[in-house]
Amino acid sequence: MKIMAIGAHLDDIEIACGGTLAKALESGHEVYALIMSKSGYTNKDGGIQRTSELAVKEGVQALNTLGISHIDILDFPTKDIPFISDVVNAIDVCMSEYQPDIIFTHHPFDTHQAHEGVSKATIAAARRKNTVIFYEPITPSGRSYVAFKPHLYVDIETTLEKKILSLKCHKSEYNKFGAEDWIEGVRCRCGFRGYEIGKKFAEAFEILRMEMGFDAKCNLN
Ligand SMILES: [Zn+2]
Repeated sequence: MKIMAIGAHLDDIEIACGGTLAKALESGHEVYALIMSKSGYTNKDGGIQRTSELAVKEGVQALNTLGISHIDILDFPTKDIPFISDVVNAIDVCMSEYQPDIIFTHHPFDTHQAHEGVSKATIAAARRKNTVIFYEPITPSGRSYVAFKPHLYVDIETTLEKKILSLKCHKSEYNKFGAEDWIEGVRCRCGFRGYEIGKKFAEAFEILRMEMGFDAKCNLN
């Protein structure tokens, strides 16, 4: 299978579905990561908190740690990626070229405006695609449980450590989130989602739509 994972920022994919993508790669599937911004940002006083150069360097290293080498990083503004035709078209071009079987993107009720915009733009760009799946809104920026429904679980016990290692590549994020708290929070959520399905660690997803077959294509294993 060809899997396309779309994120507004470098770190979104790793936090929300890094274990699943690593597992897919280990099982012989293909993964393509499309990141919509170079992900540098300023603090409230206007001072640079993370340069784009550093964000790209750490982000590529993090994705590589998951085993992902097919990566495109676009240049939309980090904090403002609206649901407009320019964003839809950019995703459309990449999607048309790659022709994915499965698409992962943000949840449309994510509270981060850029996450919401990317989600809606992905839905529009994927209008002719049959399998579109939302990953869980990330904490704290995307935290919203108004609508997220965990329909689909992936057991990530075997790839959790790879996911944690990929998060540790984002060293310049530590100042914002606090290294131990941030990483422990992600690990605990995976533990909670795992507990819900009787496994040690898992990632949860909500399905927009999904084509189901009755052959090996249904499974990542
Ligand atoms: Zn983000």
